[in-house]
Amino acid sequence: MIKVTCLGAAGSVTGSNYLIESPSGKKVLVDCGLFQGGKLMENRNWQDWGFHPKEIETLFLTHAHIDHSGRIPKLVKDGFHGQIITSPPTAELCQIMLLDSAHVQEMDAEWQTRKNRRQAKGEILPLYTTEDAEASIKYLHPVERDRIIEPEPGIKARLRNAGHILGSSILELWIEENNESIKVVFSGDLGKRSQLIVKDPHEVFDADYLFIESTYGNRLHRPFEDSKQEFLEAINYSVSHGEKVMIPAFAVERTQEILYILGEFHRQGLLPDIPVYLDSPLAIKATEIFRKNKKYYDEEAQAIVDKGSDPFDMPNLQFTEKTEESKAINEKPGSAIVIAGNGMCTAGRIKHHLKHNLWRPGASIVIVGFQAQGTTGRKIVEGAKQVKIFGERVSVKAKVFTIGGFSAHGDQNDLLEWIGNFESKPRVFVVHGEATASEAFAKIIQERFNLSVHVPKWKERLGLKPREVAYEEPREPERMPDLETTMLNTVIDLEKELKALKQRIKAKEMQRAVEEDDLDRLKFVQEELQAILS
Ligand SMILES: [Zn+2]
Repeated sequence: MIKVTCLGAAGSVTGSNYLIESPSGKKVLVDCGLFQGGKLMENRNWQDWGFHPKEIETLFLTHAHIDHSGRIPKLVKDGFHGQIITSPPTAELCQIMLLDSAHVQEMDAEWQTRKNRRQAKGEILPLYTTEDAEASIKYLHPVERDRIIEPEPGIKARLRNAGHILGSSILELWIEENNESIKVVFSGDLGKRSQLIVKDPHEVFDADYLFIESTYGNRLHRPFEDSKQEFLEAINYSVSHGEKVMIPAFAVERTQEILYILGEFHRQGLLPDIPVYLDSPLAIKATEIFRKNKKYYDEEAQAIVDKGSDPFDMPNLQFTEKTEESKAINEKPGSAIVIAGNGMCTAGRIKHHLKHNLWRPGASIVIVGFQAQGTTGRKIVEGAKQVKIFGERVSVKAKVFTIGGFSAHGDQNDLLEWIGNFESKPRVFVVHGEATASEAFAKIIQERFNLSVHVPKWKERLGLKPREVAYEEPREPERMPDLETTMLNTVIDLEKELKALKQRIKAKEMQRAVEEDDLDRLKFVQEELQAILS
């Protein structure tokens, strides 16, 4: 029997990581992403892998986003020496993304260490360093999509366009067992139909097992044209007040889509005559990679190129790579559009722009991407009156525009339509979604297609049988043998932490540090606990 263990992006949207064990004992991985969004989630990055990285010879990487690729340097540091099979643009994007992620890890560890020193505590080491990231890059093994390869005897694979970001792939896997082959498909992150720049997701017709993402499994996006209109409104709103438009952007794909739309506004004469800053060294590098990889564009983007234009350019666009250039943006009064990372406002230059502008009536913040629980971006979207930036409370007086239609993920309809292509009746596992989204989506798949659907939990181990029994109602899925132990240990740790918190509150040590934010977080933890208990 083939075993698949869901070691990440199960019951959550980050940390994508699946371990596949073939009957002959071979182990391969699909994705190796970073857990993001709050301390509880990020702690998972430090836990045991659930396998030994030395045993893995092949890692299939669906795309470059850090929640799919961000633990690769740690995997290499911990002993992985195999090949990372991925598309050529993903390999190129990964090189800049992993180095950037290492830098973020180093900065975080440094900040934490400084904080610890003030409390006479020890040094904190980063999850991985720039050297680790550099060392991991040589394991990237680019393979063009649409070809069947056999990276290991008994395991065949093919990457297909997932239409999510440049180079993003669906993974088709054929695993041999007793002269029979099981086909497992991982959707990866699926783009929506008619997304900018990239082609629509490839239609897949057969599989025995399908692992499908569900980021927006319970939601519908607003029509794209409405979103563009809203974006224009946000720009005009702040221009009329002489204030800035801040766009927290994900460096890869979303940024290029924003530039693409601004370019379109410019060609249509709709863009006011104000500076547009791309204020993110990472996004600048990513945009260069997009400019180079024209052969992966869809027809519309190609048509712009054919007319002699660059889809990501306009006359007022300035790339502010240096820190001084970035700082100068807030020294100049007047309107401007500032695109800065990161997309969930948890790090990067956007935090400086928020500090300078979030409290200014007339300014605007345009949310164009998914905001995970626990992030500053999520708090802003949910209407927080204040958020904490660099340890300081900042009032939210800027107008918040949440524009869902720019998502690089398909919504419920897009995902259902894609599943509808399957002519075989695969057993479906719904992953890569917050629990409520995955559960709701699973129910709809079941009702609409009469397929057997399951939402695996984090660390759940699934048994996949050969084709002829694949359609049977599954028996109870196997659990990780150490789940109870892990849970018990976590509870013990939690008890200690709660006790420490109680003492500190009582001793009034935290009087200055306790914020509304902290209370929100605590309430969130409490709700999660109640969900576990119910
Ligand atoms: Zn993604």
